Amino acid sequence: MLEFFAFLLGLVTGSFLNVCIVRIPRELSVVRPRSHCPACEHELSWYENLPLLSYLALLGRCRSCKQPIGLRYPAVELITALLFLALSLQGFSTAAFFVYAALASALVVITFVDIDHYIIPDVITLPTIMVSPALALFVHHVSFVDSLLGILVGGGLLWSVAWVYEKARGQEGMGLGDVKLLAMTGGLLGWKAALFTLAAGSVVGSVVGIGVMIAQRRGMGTALPFGPFLAAGALAWVFWGPQFLDWYLSAAGGWSAGGWSAVVLPMVGA
Ligand SMILES: [Zn+2]
Repeated sequence: MLEFFAFLLGLVTGSFLNVCIVRIPRELSVVRPRSHCPACEHELSWYENLPLLSYLALLGRCRSCKQPIGLRYPAVELITALLFLALSLQGFSTAAFFVYAALASALVVITFVDIDHYIIPDVITLPTIMVSPALALFVHHVSFVDSLLGILVGGGLLWSVAWVYEKARGQEGMGLGDVKLLAMTGGLLGWKAALFTLAAGSVVGSVVGIGVMIAQRRGMGTALPFGPFLAAGALAWVFWGPQFLDWYLSAAGGWSAGGWSAVVLPMVGA
């Protein structure tokens, strides 16, 4: 039952995120005016604005001008609903659920705005960085200090990478938006999450980047937005971070214990 409400909440939230994705980069209000058809300006009545259902009922076309409605709209609603559903299955506290749901929503908006415009809106990242140490207290395992470290490690690390790249290539390879996104991730999820997000985002981004380069037969200059990969990395941490950390620590611990014993045991004649 709880899962069902999480899914519904995700659908409604996703509908609002669609508005944010279109309007935030254009610096328009996300509250007013009411949603309308981008083709004919026809204002949507409530039954044309139901998440997912209206798209299906209208067979993907505007009721007024019959222009096709972008598949993006129901897709964003469905993605958000599935994320909320998956979060509700994690056994988080209610407070943690809402913090993670807010983070997932921010990441959905950032992903699609970055794909459309190659920018990551400051109106999302900066306020979230500000409140993240307070919010992190609600999230398991993330202390106030860990959150502050997360902002410093996340922001500082990526800022250094961007700085080195710019000096080496003489052109901007990564926007400051990515830096602020990773600072926000570190602030909410802690410094280990910032490192994980950067590593996971880079690996997946490289694989997809090479795939795109091959598919489009283009050179190294192919610009892919980095934000979606960082967003995916951050979400992967939310769902699998603790398991990854356990695995990593046991692998690293086993390795260093093995290494030490290989050196020390012969010395003591064991
Ligand atoms: Zn229309």
